[in-house]
Amino acid sequence: MEEKKKTKRISGFWIARIIAILLLAGGLCMIIINSVNSEESPALIICGCFCIPIGFMVLIFSLLPAIQKGMIKLNKHIVEENKEDLQDLSTAQSEILSEGVKNLSKAATEGVQDAKDKKFCMYCGKQINNDSKFCSYCGKEQK
Ligand SMILES: [Zn+2]
Repeated sequence: MEEKKKTKRISGFWIARIIAILLLAGGLCMIIINSVNSEESPALIICGCFCIPIGFMVLIFSLLPAIQKGMIKLNKHIVEENKEDLQDLSTAQSEILSEGVKNLSKAATEGVQDAKDKKFCMYCGKQINNDSKFCSYCGKEQK
């Protein structure tokens, strides 16, 4: 079932390609005939000028899957070529990341430790040591 669908799509693109080539060739022929003929015919020029861009568009559309495939192949090739560099990069990145996480958790632990050791003055509200009996800012006794 899926195989059938695939071949149908491919043949559709092939038809588009053939139409595009016919349009391009027809447009070119019209312009060439017009330039070879002694008397000019505007209809031929107009037809030719319409056929060529339309042919181009259809051609590009019909080549899209092939272009996509090529791009994927190219990307794969680039990744394959630079595999070692990419691995180094990802290792460096994960090292930086783990270092960052380490620092962050360290800071958090220190912060918690800091908060444990400190309290706030009952009178002025400034942060003072947990075990100090008098506030180092306003000098009032802490109960
Ligand atoms: Zn105080």
